[in-house]
Amino acid sequence: MAKKEKAVADPHACTLDKIISLCKRRGFVYQASEIYGGQAGAWDYGPLGVDFKRNIQNAWWKEMAQLHDDVVGLDSAIFQHHTTWEASGHVGHFSDPMIDCTECQARHRADKMIEDYVAANPDKAPGKPIDTMSHEEMQDFITTNIDCPVCHSKEHKYTAVREFNLMFKTYQGPVADDSHLIYLRPETCQGIFTDFKSIVQSNRMKVPFGVAQVGKSFRNEIIFKNFIFRTCEFEQMEMEYFCKPGTEDETFDRWRKDRWAFYLKYGIPEKQLKWHHHDKLAHYAKDAYDITYNFPIGFEEIEGIHSRTDFDLSQHQQYSKKDMSYIDQEDGNKKYVPYVIETSAGLNRNFLMFLCEAYEEQNVAKEGEPEDYRTVLHLDPRLAPITVAVLPLMKKDGLAEKAKEIQHLLKEDFVTDYDVSGTIGKRYRRQDEVGTPFCVTIDHDTLDSASPNFNTVTVRFRDSMEQERVKLDELVSFIQKAIKSYKPYVK
Ligand code: ATP
Repeated sequence: MAKKEKAVADPHACTLDKIISLCKRRGFVYQASEIYGGQAGAWDYGPLGVDFKRNIQNAWWKEMAQLHDDVVGLDSAIFQHHTTWEASGHVGHFSDPMIDCTECQARHRADKMIEDYVAANPDKAPGKPIDTMSHEEMQDFITTNIDCPVCHSKEHKYTAVREFNLMFKTYQGPVADDSHLIYLRPETCQGIFTDFKSIVQSNRMKVPFGVAQVGKSFRNEIIFKNFIFRTCEFEQMEMEYFCKPGTEDETFDRWRKDRWAFYLKYGIPEKQLKWHHHDKLAHYAKDAYDITYNFPIGFEEIEGIHSRTDFDLSQHQQYSKKDMSYIDQEDGNKKYVPYVIETSAGLNRNFLMFLCEAYEEQNVAKEGEPEDYRTVLHLDPRLAPITVAVLPLMKKDGLAEKAKEIQHLLKEDFVTDYDVSGTIGKRYRRQDEVGTPFCVTIDHDTLDSASPNFNTVTVRFRDSMEQERVKLDELVSFIQKAIKSYKPYVK
């Protein structure tokens, strides 16, 4: 069930529909297989979306692997041996509670159905946290209170709540028997655990250390709505940090602080983020928090931070019969199975969050003039899909040729765009809408050796709309400095 958008009185507020429309219109995200009526829950990332998504991934990778001396990278296979998923507990436990309406046959995720009902009716909350409710309690609550969100029947005729395993499975090769069974990974991190010993040995890693990985994960979600928020195929940015037993609580606190700071660094205001503590812990967890963001549909999870104990390594040790322990030379050769802190962020949810946060319909009319709204994405320049747009004031008089030359000069350092069609004001608006932080305009003075502005261009800043004349031979370093000193825009 899609969560209802928050009621918004302001016609210029950001809504999910506006984001979807912008994404389609400007080539960020399209519905997959649209020519066939669309594949539910699947989305294609277009020319701007692919750069934007990669920039978010690169920012995460820089933060985790480049800025932490004790974190290394890995790219493990999507297909892992099927025993991996028995050991991890996914075959037995990785499921969501589902319930069907017997009148219209619509299938719902029972916990989310209650969550959405409580969001709309806060005074009617069940007497305990939803994630601690049993199947019977969920069913009682739904049958007593909730109209089917699809057919809106007030009869409340539902099946029992039952568990639905979220893993996609298939068979490798032509023989469809148990020995050829293969799962599409539902999380990236199990490859980190199965490779733990190889990483320690090949790179002489000393505990504590972390392993970062970005990749696709697949979950056979019961519901996939709200655009790219919940899909069957998505990308995760995960890091498993191995530490000595007994140090897990301080390590957990440190990573919680680090991950929170990452979002502030890239322009998410603190008031838009909230911690959610898990009341009911997963079978492997000692403690767990989610970082949630205030989407137009309300506060929802973007990243989970989990204290996983030695569960995963111990399970793989038991199922593979391979020793997964670590010998700590700095602690008298003590042998132990390390404890693990995990940070697990969704790349696609980060994509949606950064777009929602950056979006503004801003009245840029001067005082006394009629309202004039521009749509602008105040993206951090490190995330924006295009960094610099090069705009000749007009095509003729050699301005287009000079602009192409300048674009060529900038290309080596920045992602650029070139646009010559329409008035300069319209072109600025087009760039604002996709979040381009800098526009470089070439005019007659740029080419006129008699002008004091010879060999200079105008740099126009997206957020302030201010303009500055910059010497051509200083342009690259000027933009580099502006990126470094960028301050998040405050709406
Ligand atoms: P949810 O409660 O929303 O189903 P989860 O608790 O199952 O999420 P985790 O298993 O902790 O999620 O996965 C880590 C991150 O992966 C999530 O914070 C989210 O950003 C992302 N993620 C999980 N499932 C999906 C999905 N179906 N579509 C898109 N992103 C997802």
